[in-house]
Formats: sequence, C-alpha cells, structure tokens
Amino acid sequence: MKKEILLIYTGGTIGMIKDPKKKSLVPFNFDKVLDALPELKNSEIKLSNISIKKPIDSSNMNIQVWIELAQIIKKNYKQYTGFVVLHGTDTMAFSASAMSFLLENLNKAVIFTGSQIPIGVTRTDAKENLITSIEIAGSGKINEVGVFFEDQLYRGNRTVKVNTEHFEAFQSPNYPVLAQAGVNIKYTSAIDKKTNEDLIVHTHLSNNVAILKLFPAIKTEVIKAILNSAKGIVIESFGSGNAANNAELLKLLKEAIQKEKVLINITQCLHGRAVEEKYQTSDVFVKSGVLCGKDLTTEAAITKLMFLLGQDISIKEIKKNMQKNLRGEITI
Ligand code: ASP
Repeated sequence: MKKEILLIYTGGTIGMIKDPKKKSLVPFNFDKVLDALPELKNSEIKLSNISIKKPIDSSNMNIQVWIELAQIIKKNYKQYTGFVVLHGTDTMAFSASAMSFLLENLNKAVIFTGSQIPIGVTRTDAKENLITSIEIAGSGKINEVGVFFEDQLYRGNRTVKVNTEHFEAFQSPNYPVLAQAGVNIKYTSAIDKKTNEDLIVHTHLSNNVAILKLFPAIKTEVIKAILNSAKGIVIESFGSGNAANNAELLKLLKEAIQKEKVLINITQCLHGRAVEEKYQTSDVFVKSGVLCGKDLTTEAAITKLMFLLGQDISIKEIKKNMQKNLRGEITI
C-alpha cells in the first residue's frame, strides 16, 4: 500500500516571504511552499496538504489553533500513514507538547518541523528538515508527537528551543533523541511503543495558568499577583528545585493551595530535575504541598496543566496526573 502523508501548514519562517512594504517576514501561500520543493513531486510517498484557516507566525499561537490541529488529525487519522506539521520554531516546543496531551493513544507519527531560513532562500534549512520529516512520518516506526530539526528527531514534549540563530535550534535536554538522520535514519530505543488502544482526541484546554519564575530579591507582591492570577501555576525555581526559605513565601504558597490551586515546581536549569529535600531550601515547596515536576520542561509543564485543567476531573485527579507520566513527558 502506498504511503500517504498529510502535511499540515500552520505558518512560520519555513513558508514566509519578505513583505515588500514592511520588509519583515510574513506567512504566505502553502502551495508556493511546495513549488519550492520539486523533489517531493517524484517521491514514493503520496503527499497531500492542508493549511490551518489562517497561517501564522508561531508567536501568535493559541488554543484555537491547537484544537484545530487536533481536529484535522482526528478527521484524517485513518486515511494517512503519518502527519507532518509545518510550524514556526518560536513556539514549536509548546505546540508539540500540547498536541502530545491532546492526542491520547497515538499510533502514528505526528512530526513537527520548520526552518530558520524560509524555504525559497538558497541557504534554507527547510528542505532537509521537511524531506526527512516526511520520510520519518512514513516509516511506520514512530507512534508519537516528535520534533524533527537539523538531523535529530526529538520527543515533542521534551523539546526546548535553545537557539535563535543556529540551524540546530532545539534540544531535548533530559531525554535521548528518537532518531538521528545521517546517510541512514537511525531510530533509537527511546521511541514510544505501539498501543492497542484507540486514538482519543481531546479538544479542551484551559488557559487559566501562569508561570512564576523566581529570582533573587523577587518582591512578595509579584509572587502574590502571579499566584492570584490563575488556577494552575508552574513555578520555575532555582537549581534542583530550591527557593528562598522564608516564612512569607511559605504562607503565600500554603494559601494558594488552600484555595484549590495546582502548583508545580520545576527547575530553571535546562538539564537535570527538581527534587525534594535535597537542600533545606526546597522545604517551602514540600511543607506547602507544591507538586514536584521533576524533569518536566516549562513547555510540557504548562501545556500539561492546560490540558488537565481543561478536563472535567477533580483537583485531586489533576494533581495525581500532573505527577504521572502521561505521554513520556516526565521521568518518574
Ligand atoms: N517567528 C517565527 C515563528 O515562530 C520563527 C520561525 O519560524 O523560526 O513563526
């Protein structure tokens, strides 16, 4: 049976051109993107393409687009071998994380890719990224949401954008790569196993969330304002999950938890994890009941909270699931 891949265009640098009036990059028509890749016309893989209603620079990414993407995949799931999502790099790690939670029991590849230079420009990195993503999506080996960029396939909910200039723009700091593209594409043992369950596509996310990034000398009013602003809060703490161990912070955290808020502690460091009780300075979190987010990335933590707060489940269930490994996003 011939492999069929659905390319889903959302915008991003990969498909942008220079607006002649403003001289800045703006998204353009997807058919023109494919015109820039005649190699694909002779591919053994049958390609179809669809675009979201209004392609965007991914800095404009929002919940509606994530739901639109999930629904496109739901509608086309049976017909296609795999999916390639063309997406801007700025928020790709957030989108890949969000999609991993929305698509439960995924048994096909959903590969996010993009580029640092538009596809029509001579030195573009788009061609390699797109052609290899298509091959990976058609391989039948990947059953999860991935990000393919500059020769590496990463687990989507483990990726972080780390560079605005290098072609190697992403990293998966706490999880091995799923595949490495060289002369051959080598798949590693880190890839997710197939499941026998049917795909469940979730279509609710809540944006009643916030991120509190600690820094030395942060004002109590700032912490208070952020804790009051949302139902779910990701706290980015120091090192292995530490914070100033003062009574004021402890009081604020306890009050927030009494108000049935979900607070989760992750580290500001790119590599490593938040742990409890290594230093006395993690006491404020342990004593107040803030959850430990271990090696969740900020992108995975915030989209997981959005996903769980969007479900019709109790706070107790949300807290339990926040610390559980749902889609390979956390090392327990
Ligand atoms: N601003 C662009 C975007 O995220 C950057 C890129 O695609 O690399 O849509």
